[in-house]
Amino acid sequence: MVIVLLGAPGSGKGTIGKILAENLKLAHISTGDLFRENLKNETELGKKAKEYMDKGELVPDEITVKMLEKRMEEPDVANGAILDGFPRTKNQAVVLDELLESKGKKVNMALNIDVPFDEIVERIANRRSCRGCSEIYNVVFNPPKKEGICDVCGGELYQREDQKPEVVQNRLKVYENTAEELIKYYNTKNVLRTEKAGDKAGKSSYEVAEEIEKELKK
Ligand code: ADP
Ligand code: ZN
Repeated sequence: MVIVLLGAPGSGKGTIGKILAENLKLAHISTGDLFRENLKNETELGKKAKEYMDKGELVPDEITVKMLEKRMEEPDVANGAILDGFPRTKNQAVVLDELLESKGKKVNMALNIDVPFDEIVERIANRRSCRGCSEIYNVVFNPPKKEGICDVCGGELYQREDQKPEVVQNRLKVYENTAEELIKYYNTKNVLRTEKAGDKAGKSSYEVAEEIEKELKK
């Protein structure tokens, strides 16, 4: 089974993705995390990606697609995957369909996580990531037990470079420019599912994940 997560930066994609991957025994593949790993390890790919990521722009497809294809070859993907942050363009969606078809798989669900814009801006400002395991916290809604320290691995929590206000604005603009064509694409294929989520109205990430698991068991 393959589930694609659509949703703005800060919509809870990562959190929902991790819960679903664990409960459904699927690989959790975040292209953002893969890029950050490459940055940390100072690979050639990481160096190329950095200039785009620092500005909140999309990394060109030729780099992104190659990285994703390589990741999809790993043994933990045999069961399927939760794709978090890929595809982000229609071209990537088409490439993904071709890749999956060649493995006898397909996108079973495209989950669009719909969170109000103002809430997203606030969430990103409150967000902290772990340097060790990339776990994400919200200092207001989902704080770690000990300030600045990851509950999972004890790593240091930090605010990512691309969580600075100007970069966040750009990431959201990039999202708005590309989201619609993806939503249309998956709607046409009859696999789109939209969930209103958020802390103020709608469901929490945990509730969304639960809902989806129920739906898939039907
Ligand atoms: P976000 O919270 O904005 O969804 P991610 O952690 O998913 O952030 O991605 C961080 C950055 O990595 C993006 O701003 C972009 O530069 C790059 N990136 C991640 N996935 C893709 C993709 N599928 N295509 C192009 N660039 C990507
Ligand atoms: Zn950690």
